[in-house]
Amino acid sequence: MASLAWQSVTSPTERREQLKAVYEQAKSCTRCPLHQTRTTVVFGSGNADADLMFVGEAPGANEDKQGLPFVGQAGKLLTKLLGEIGLDRDEVFICNTVKCRPPNNRDPHPNEIESCNEYLRRQVELIQPTVICTLGNFSTKLLRGDNTGISRLHGQPEVRTIGARAIRLYPLYHPAAALYTPSTLEVLRADFSRIPDLLAEGAPEQPAAADEYVPEPADEAPPQPADEAPPQPAEGPVERPAEEPPEPDAPESGSAFGTPPEAAQLGLF
Ligand code: URA
Repeated sequence: MASLAWQSVTSPTERREQLKAVYEQAKSCTRCPLHQTRTTVVFGSGNADADLMFVGEAPGANEDKQGLPFVGQAGKLLTKLLGEIGLDRDEVFICNTVKCRPPNNRDPHPNEIESCNEYLRRQVELIQPTVICTLGNFSTKLLRGDNTGISRLHGQPEVRTIGARAIRLYPLYHPAAALYTPSTLEVLRADFSRIPDLLAEGAPEQPAAADEYVPEPADEAPPQPADEAPPQPAEGPVERPAEEPPEPDAPESGSAFGTPPEAAQLGLF
């Protein structure tokens, strides 16, 4: 497998080109068993040079079909909450912890999250967001590197280093958890309302050696077969609804701009 080795890239154009290369690799990824059941790799969508990035859990049925993240009911709520703080979806970048749909919307397994982690790390390094909102337990636990649950962490920003980048990590409840629970929605809305202030703080100080970051050894080893590790235990409210009702044909992101899904995934608005 070709390496996703880090290179020092500064201009948005260069970073976007490199992001496209990562996307090309992801499109034919066979690193974990999810490639056997996916329809489309859901790499992410929005602005490839966004200050604000959202990381959800995993694509569901609609996302798998359309190739875009958060296009179901949870996505509609995410779009609405963004609107309430004066942002459009195409101003931010939205992606998931794993890029392929787990069958029957089951939770992603640890080996799947681990296999996909390099794509997320590269997305962060190339998009260079100031703030990353983790949506729910899976992305929060992954990006914080510990098992503390979202109900303890939501609404509390902290500076974290991901790959070569220091970012402001801002854990939020997953919108799916707020769909049918008004009290969770109110908490999520209150947490959302603090995003503009967080963005206004600007990027945190970057690690001293950021320009000379040496990547971990390239992943040349063949992907390991599925491990039998049990899925991560869910904590707090249910993260994703089971099957979301099918969406009308037109995706709410990307094609609204006359952009085919592939380009929309890269934020070529
Ligand atoms: N849709 C996504 O893309 N991700 C989620 O976590 C839930 C719905």
